[in-house]
Amino acid sequence: MAKEAWVDQDVCISCGLCVDNIPEAFRFADNGKAECYDSGGASEEEIQNNAIDVCPVSCIHWR
Ligand code: SF4
Repeated sequence: MAKEAWVDQDVCISCGLCVDNIPEAFRFADNGKAECYDSGGASEEEIQNNAIDVCPVSCIHWR
């Protein structure tokens, strides 16, 4: 099974970087925090490089 990314919303500061970089996988939830709604929307490499590695508070993880 492919890896799935998830956002620790207790830590997310809603900066928007992951949502701007990969809207195919990340969006803002109703609570204003980011969520990964479709890990399959982008490659693992893209999620790693353009979301996980650039999140300013390092709150995006693989399950
Ligand atoms: S990059 Fe990190 S802090 Fe910014 S919105 Fe995404 S999960 Fe939240």
